[in-house]
Amino acid sequence: MPDAPAPLAPYGPLPTGGTARPITRWGAEVMHRPQQPVTVYDDALRALAADMVATMVAADGVGLAACQIGEDVAMFVFDCPDSTGRHTVGIVCNPELTLPEGRDRQLDESEEGCLSFPGAFVDCARPDSASVTGTGLDGEPVEFAGDGMLARCLQHETDHTRGTVFGDRLPTKARKKLQKAHDKAAGDFPPEWPAG
Ligand code: ZN
Repeated sequence: MPDAPAPLAPYGPLPTGGTARPITRWGAEVMHRPQQPVTVYDDALRALAADMVATMVAADGVGLAACQIGEDVAMFVFDCPDSTGRHTVGIVCNPELTLPEGRDRQLDESEEGCLSFPGAFVDCARPDSASVTGTGLDGEPVEFAGDGMLARCLQHETDHTRGTVFGDRLPTKARKKLQKAHDKAAGDFPPEWPAG
């Protein structure tokens, strides 16, 4: 087997040295309201990003927003493959999402899950490509675009910074199915997961 291509990291690698923290779950107040914009790009923000990366890795996720470790900050990190399987890694503060419109708008109905509602996946229709602009950890502009799971991830994580969880986007029947799967898997995800 050929080696997988190195991840695309157009703005540099993700910060390391953070500590995995317990993941905040749906229902916590911080997850259901818009997050505070980032205005100061300092060591505290970098330390938060490093903890988010460590938590995402420990939980085997492809993306994580700050509210998912209980922080009211409009920022997310991701390490996610596109439709070719190639990963892109990045950090976005104050994300603004652009989705295809008109004839370019095609929906992809693939499985989606959320680390803040672990152990459950259901189909969720979303546009099959997306781009996000914002700022990086140094306050400079960043832009990411992609298809496949990366398109889904960019939409899902931007949603988190606005206080929307993907359950909010599901019809009642799918939401019930999601709840059932989550309840069944609850024992695998104690409150401290994935810390410690
Ligand atoms: Zn999520």
